[in-house]
Amino acid sequence: MKTPLIDPFQRAITYLRLSVTDRCDFRCVYCMSENMTFLPKKELLTLEELDRMCSTFIGLGVEKLRITGGEPLVRRGIMTFFNAMTRHLDSGALKELTLTTNGSQLEKYAADLWAAGVRRINISLDTLNEAKFADITRWGRLPQVIRGIDAAQKAGMRVKINTVALKGFNDVELFDLVEWCKSRDMDLTFIEVMPMGDIGNEDRLDQYWPLSDLRAQLAERYTLTDLAERSGGPARYVRLEETGQKIGFITPLTHNFCESCNRVRLTCTGEIYTCLGQEGMQDLRPALRDHPGDDAPLEAAIRAAIGMKPKGHDFDYSRQEVSGKMSRHMSHTGG
Ligand code: SAM
Ligand code: SF4
Repeated sequence: MKTPLIDPFQRAITYLRLSVTDRCDFRCVYCMSENMTFLPKKELLTLEELDRMCSTFIGLGVEKLRITGGEPLVRRGIMTFFNAMTRHLDSGALKELTLTTNGSQLEKYAADLWAAGVRRINISLDTLNEAKFADITRWGRLPQVIRGIDAAQKAGMRVKINTVALKGFNDVELFDLVEWCKSRDMDLTFIEVMPMGDIGNEDRLDQYWPLSDLRAQLAERYTLTDLAERSGGPARYVRLEETGQKIGFITPLTHNFCESCNRVRLTCTGEIYTCLGQEGMQDLRPALRDHPGDDAPLEAAIRAAIGMKPKGHDFDYSRQEVSGKMSRHMSHTGG
C-alpha cells in the first residue's frame, strides 16, 4: 500500500476529475466563444496515456473518477478508455466511475457506459425551452439531449441535472425545472456562473444570478431543509419537504468550500490543476512520456503537485467587477 495523497492542509485527495478533450459539439455562451481554437491532436494524451495517468492516481488512493471535457463523449474511442477503467472498479480500488456530459451523445453510448460500470451521470441542461436551448448552447438541440436522458435512465443510470443559473434566462423556469426533475426522478443542482475564460461579448455580471436569490424563490413555494451531506466539493444540498426532492447548489462565488476540498483536475494534455480557482498548474506529461516503463517519476510529479495545492481560491463579484477571474476556460480544466 502506497502512502495516500495528502496535501499541505491535511486534505486527502481521493477524487480526480479528468478532462479527456477540449472539444465540444456545443458552444454554450458562458463556456466557449463561437470560434474556438482547439488543441492539435498531438498535444492530447492518447487513450493509453489517459489510462496510465488514471491508473497511477488510483494506485495513490483516488477512489472517484469523473470524466469531463469539453464534451467527453465526442473524444474518439472514448469507450475504450471507459472499458479499461472497469478493471479498477472490479478490483475495488475505484469506488465510482462517472462523467459530466451535455447529453448529446448519450443515446448512442448510455448502454455501453452502464456496461462499463457507470451508475450515476451528470447531465448539463439549462432550459426546457427548445429555442432558448438553441440560443444558450448555440449548436445544441434539446430533443437530442432529451433522448440522451431517456437512454441514460433506460440503461439504469441515476441522472443528476446540472443547471447554470442565469439571470434573465432561466430564472423564469425555476419551478418548471424543479417539477420536471421531480417527474423524472432526477436530482437537480444549480451552478452559479463563474468568471472563466474570455468568451467574447457576453457580460457575465449581467447574467450572474446569486443562488441565495434562487434559494429564496424556492422557499416561497417549498419548505427547504438543509442536508448535512457534503461531497467534499462546492455543492450543498437541501430537501424540498413537499416533494422529497434533493436540490444542490454550487456556489463557488458566495461560499467558501475549500476547507474540505478532496479533488484535483487533470487536463487532456496532462496538466494538473490542484485548485479550480487558481492559475497554478504542473505539467505531468514529461514525467509520463519520458519514462514509458516506469511510473515512479509520474508518482513523484503527482505528489509534488499535490504538495503545492493551495489553501483556497478567490473569486469575487462583490465590487461589481470580476476579480479573481480566470483566463482559462472551463472546457480546458473540465468544470
Ligand atoms: N460538456 C460537458 C457538460 O456540459 O456537461 C462537460 C464539461 S462542462 C465545462 C462542465 C460543466 O461546467 C457544465 O455543467 C457547464 O454548465 C459548466 N460550466 C461551463 N462554463 C461555466 C461557467 N462559466 N460557470 C459555471 N459553470 C460553467
Ligand atoms: Fe460544451 Fe459543456 Fe462547455 Fe457547453 S458547457 S460548451 S456542452 S463543454
